[in-house]
Amino acid sequence: MELTEEEKREEARKEELRMIVEMIDASMALAVKKGKHPLTDGCSCIVCAERRKQLIRGPEPEWKYWL
Ligand SMILES: [Zn+2]
Repeated sequence: MELTEEEKREEARKEELRMIVEMIDASMALAVKKGKHPLTDGCSCIVCAERRKQLIRGPEPEWKYWL
């Protein structure tokens, strides 16, 4: 069975999503395995990735409102 261009694009997008989800899973598993640790160069766990993002973005603005 031949896939149409549209279907091929759809498959590629699903594959990409699957890879992103796997990457996040792996970085979470790594964070759990390593436990609490300071920001480490080259560490790809979710905690270090988030800390790096925050260093680039600057601190989150303080939350002033209660829901
Ligand atoms: Zn880490």
